Formats: sequence, structure tokens, C-alpha cells
Amino acid sequence: MQKIDLSNFRLATSGTAREINRRIVLNLIRARQPISRADLARLSGLQRSTVSLIAEQLIADRWIVEGATGRLPRGRRPTYLRLNGDRLILGIDIRPTATRMGVADLNARFLTQETMPTADTPDTFLDQLTQRARRLLGSYPNASWEGIGISLPGRADRHSHRLVFAPNLAWKDVDLKTPMEQATGLSVELENAANACVLSEVWFGPRSDTVQDLVVVTVSEGIGTGVFANGQLVMGNGGFAGEFGHTVLDPAGPVCRCGNRGCWEVFASNSAALRYYTGATPGAAPQLAFEDLLALAEQGDVRAGRALEEMARHLGAGIALLVTGLAPSRIMVIGEVTRAWRRVGPILQRVLAERSRTHTPPEIEPAEDTAQPRLRGTIALVIQKHFAAPPIT
Ligand SMILES: [Zn+2]
Repeated sequence: MQKIDLSNFRLATSGTAREINRRIVLNLIRARQPISRADLARLSGLQRSTVSLIAEQLIADRWIVEGATGRLPRGRRPTYLRLNGDRLILGIDIRPTATRMGVADLNARFLTQETMPTADTPDTFLDQLTQRARRLLGSYPNASWEGIGISLPGRADRHSHRLVFAPNLAWKDVDLKTPMEQATGLSVELENAANACVLSEVWFGPRSDTVQDLVVVTVSEGIGTGVFANGQLVMGNGGFAGEFGHTVLDPAGPVCRCGNRGCWEVFASNSAALRYYTGATPGAAPQLAFEDLLALAEQGDVRAGRALEEMARHLGAGIALLVTGLAPSRIMVIGEVTRAWRRVGPILQRVLAERSRTHTPPEIEPAEDTAQPRLRGTIALVIQKHFAAPPIT
């Protein structure tokens, strides 16, 4: 339940009611497609004539199309409605070493994907990104483009939209939104990668209808968390909520890229596991990739196995804090480390059980690599603007 904000409210008008009904119909089509107007009227409780009016408007706006004709035993054949497969979204997942781009429809089905190295400087990166984006947009001449979603290994300020905190990228105060919007003519939505993963699960996950509270922990070069509580993403002041990766677990610990010492991520990220393996000093460029470490452990390399186990203990310690403080019913762990879940999962669970005893332990779920939650979340970022409950302000 949310209080009515008396300093910032808008009275309900017939327009507000129409917009809510329109979104309900659009969501019913999304959930039940292909669906007839009669079924939409039955499921929504709206008059058949109202449903027809809304459907005509959604067709005119290119959100939906009339699909195959249904077959009834006798009588009139209804024309089915479904989401417009030619309405497309460009999703971009920026990671410190590589950036993945994909074109998807409103159902988050990817038509194409490609990867490029993430350049060291923002200027070079933006040059390459805008060029590729324009080429991808141009390769679908019949599409109706809805927008661009970008997931970030850091935080963009809610108001300025500038990337202001990205310690693993080492870029400071960068505007990605304006150059991308100017280059493509499309609106751009930015979100932290862990939050994007939450949205992926909320909009496209197998249990998307029932998600009420969920914490996503993304484990990569650093650690990100996205917190979904009471049915919404927790944003905090300026949109910075969820930086549990930079909570200090040991003030005497190794230096973190954020400038602090002993943050959770210097103990439990992929970079930490590589450091346990090589014995390198924190912050030094890794001599091998995390995937190599996983392969070595799989092949029976004892030192590689121990490095993963050390990482798992620290993952469990941090997750115990999240569980005790937030009491989520589910925690999703996302990242390459889930490939070694048989080794990592039991250690993590053991540490969690030792350290968090206040309530029923949550379900800890390693996300499937194939689901590509970071990239799929960028699609959710764009569609939620039109499918979520209309904003109050
Ligand atoms: Zn830190």
C-alpha cells in the first residue's frame, strides 16, 4: 500500500480511467495471446464495445495486430489479437570487457545478437556503439522501433541520467543517454544490471505472475544486487539502493575499486576468485579469465577448486546479511559462477544457514546462463513504460 502524496498528486479523470483500462487490455493480450475480443471482454469485465474501441486504438498505435482467425464449432469466427511482432526494442548490456547488443520483440524473443569489446574510453565506446546501433536499426526496415534499454555495470543518476558510479568500468560521470538518443532518434532507458535482472524475472520469468519479493545477486567482475520488495523495485535516494557489493565487511580488507576497503565484492566476485587462485594483489589485471578458472576446477585442479570454495564462503556471508535484513522469499544468483553450482551452492547454503537464523531460509536459485537476464532485462526496461500500472505523477 502506498500513501497518497499530498505534495504531488493528480486527480483521476476519465482519461486516467481510460489509460488504466487500455493497459489492462494490453496486458491481457500479452498474457493470453492470441485472444479474441469476446474473451478479452469476459476476462476484463469491460463492455464488448469498450474492448473493441481499445483494440482499434492499440492496432492503430501498432502495439497489437489481428492474427489468425479462430475456429468455433459453428457461427462467426472471431479474429484473434496478439502483440505486434514487428514492434522491436534494442537491448544493450554493457560489461567492463564486452558489450552485448540484441534486437527483441515485445515478447523478449531475440531476433539477433552480437557482442563487441567494451572500449577503454567512453568516447571511443560511444562511437562504436552508436555505429553498431544504427546498423542494427537499419537492418529491420519494416520495424516499428519502441526504444533502447541499456543495462549498466554501475549506477546512472535518476535525474541527470548520467553514469555516475561504475568502479569496474573506471568511467566517471558519463552521459550515454543523450548521444544514443541523438544517434538513433529513439528514447533510451538506463538501469543498473542487477535491477535489469530483477525486471527480466518480473516481466519474463517463469513465475512472473506471482513475484512479490526477490533479491537478485549478480556476480561478475563486481557484485550487484537488485531488490524487489512489496511488488516494486527498491530505488532509494537517487536510485542508488542495492549497492550491497560495496558494503564493508572488513575495514582492514583489500582495497576495492570504489576506494573503500574490504567491500563484499573484493571477497566474493569473479575477480576475488581469480585473486585467490593467482595470489595477485587486489586490483591487479587478472592473468586468466574466470571461465578458465571454472574449467581448471572442473578438470580437478585443486587450487582452482579451493579458490571457488573461498569465493562461495564469502558469497554466503554477504547473502546472509541480505536475507537477515530483507527476508526475501527468493534469491537469484546470476553469473558464470552458477556453472559450478554443484561445488559452490552447498557451501553458500551452509554459510547462510549458520549466519541467518531469523526466519525460514529463502529459496536460493542459480539462474540459467541461457536466460540472459541482463540482456532480457533491457527489454523489460522499455516495455514496462507501457505495460506497468500508469504512474501516479
Ligand atoms: Zn567497494
